[in-house]
Amino acid sequence: MSDHYDVIVIGAGPAGYSCAIRAAQLGLAAACIDKWLNPEGKSSLGGTCLNAGCIPSKALLESSELFERANSEFERHGIQIEQVSLDLAAMQKRKTDIVNELTGGIGSLFKANGVTRLAGSARIHGQGRVSFQPNDGEVSEITADNIVIATGSEPTELSIAPFDGDRVLDSRGALAMTEVPDRLGVIGAGYIGVELGSVWSRLGADVTLLEAVDKFMPIADRGIAEEGLKQFRNRGLDIRLGARVTGVEAGTTGVEVTYESAGETQSQTFDRVVVAIGRKPHTADLLADEVPIELDDRGCIDVGDDFRSSLPGIYAVGDVVGNPMLAHKGMEEGVAVAERLAGQLPHVNYRTIPSVVYTEPEMAWVGDSETDLKASGIDYRSGQIPFAANGRAKALGNQTGFVKILAHAETDEILGAHMIGPNVSELVQEIVVAMEYRAASEDIARIIHGHPTLGETVHEAALAVDGRPIHFPPPKKRG
Ligand code: FAD
Ligand code: NAD
Repeated sequence: MSDHYDVIVIGAGPAGYSCAIRAAQLGLAAACIDKWLNPEGKSSLGGTCLNAGCIPSKALLESSELFERANSEFERHGIQIEQVSLDLAAMQKRKTDIVNELTGGIGSLFKANGVTRLAGSARIHGQGRVSFQPNDGEVSEITADNIVIATGSEPTELSIAPFDGDRVLDSRGALAMTEVPDRLGVIGAGYIGVELGSVWSRLGADVTLLEAVDKFMPIADRGIAEEGLKQFRNRGLDIRLGARVTGVEAGTTGVEVTYESAGETQSQTFDRVVVAIGRKPHTADLLADEVPIELDDRGCIDVGDDFRSSLPGIYAVGDVVGNPMLAHKGMEEGVAVAERLAGQLPHVNYRTIPSVVYTEPEMAWVGDSETDLKASGIDYRSGQIPFAANGRAKALGNQTGFVKILAHAETDEILGAHMIGPNVSELVQEIVVAMEYRAASEDIARIIHGHPTLGETVHEAALAVDGRPIHFPPPKKRG
């Protein structure tokens, strides 16, 4: 092992592993240090995303959705199943197998690209100086021309409800439950609340989400957020908005949660409570005392456009630099900083980062919402088409939701798109590409979309911006 590298990347989540791989592709000697241990106590690459975030949550969302559909939909398709029953251990094993394959895959990619993998903790002592504590050995010092911090984020704890790994869980605990709780409380109705709340609700739990704010998903366009709230409630999630949690008392038989809502104090007892009120940057033990790196008011590493921290030769990417805390944003930043270190001039377009909530129905969006455009005084035209008008959605048996495209009133440039419905996680990508090329809604309207596909709803929404959808009445003829 060489003790000096061109770049040391600290953290092997999406931001860090992408950075290390791209740096090695560009001919830099790259080492990536990560301390993550899986439940068997083995070093595991991929960070939160692969081990305890995006991937295991999507595995459980898929399994739980199939379980629910087998119970509620198969009969309509003419498929008779005598009795559908749940084998949660097998479901959890499938999730773990997927995680192990993908985290092992990052190890293979490191080998194939020549990235040096160092399993253990890193601490920065100054420009180019890192102490490395292997998971199973002595501390040593390694050096590099540049250091990239990609140490990610961790769940925010509620001071009145510290995580205890039993009654009061973080998202990692919520992904690993070995029994379906009868009554599950979730504090926070954001991404994690609705995704993991959906998983356990589909598997049979009574799920109550307590959300402090009185608007559902304030970061989303109001149209899809309101439709989402209605749909999730219809599917059994008891979402209580404007609920301010004031007490959480864990006992041997349950957790009593007290909250204030509309001026009244209420309380409810759950078997378990998941706290999902956001994530905070992970910088614990990362910086030696003598390293005065600047943090912002949320504790994120303060970086400029080029990902430089306040100290020369030290860069930061991914969740540790702040919102949006999304894997694909981190990957893009990781690649960009590697290219910058190799002398290139990359650019990350923050306007075209898609957001997806993997519930049923899915929600997805990119660009400005109507609220954003109104606040900026930008005139726009809107085209909105429901999946009820789509033949493929009918055949799938899923006609919930709609696609809305927002375009500049004069130039017709697409400024945003907001979708709720089947497979919108994939459909939004068409608009991401369109916005990246600064396309007009007319461009999408003139592109041939396969029939029958869900993408035809995107096409029709683009036609609707100009008031000329084919398979849905234009606004003035409706009703
Ligand atoms: P992380 O993935 O957090 O990785 C940081 C790594 O750094 C960790 O492996 C950690 O062990 C290591 N590390 C930290 N400090 C040190 C140190 N001092 N020395 C050595 N190693 C260190 N995002 C999406 O885009 N789509 C989704 O569907 C999605 N689903 C999610 C579901 C859940 C339940 C959660 C919790 C998150 C989800 N996210 C999702 C968010 C996503 O996981 C994060 O945005 C992403 O993992 C951030 O990547 P990162 O590389 O910045 O950090
Ligand atoms: P979040 O920011 O999405 O939602 C947190 C919610 O908790 C908010 O609605 C907030 O108003 C509410 N809240 C805050 N304090 C509260 C309190 N004291 N009582 C009740 N409610 C409170 O955060 P999250 O759901 O924890 O997820 C963390 C991050 O992980 C997300 O912001 C996102 O960046 C990422 N993530 C992404 C995906 C995805 O892309 N599909 C999935 C899961 C997580």
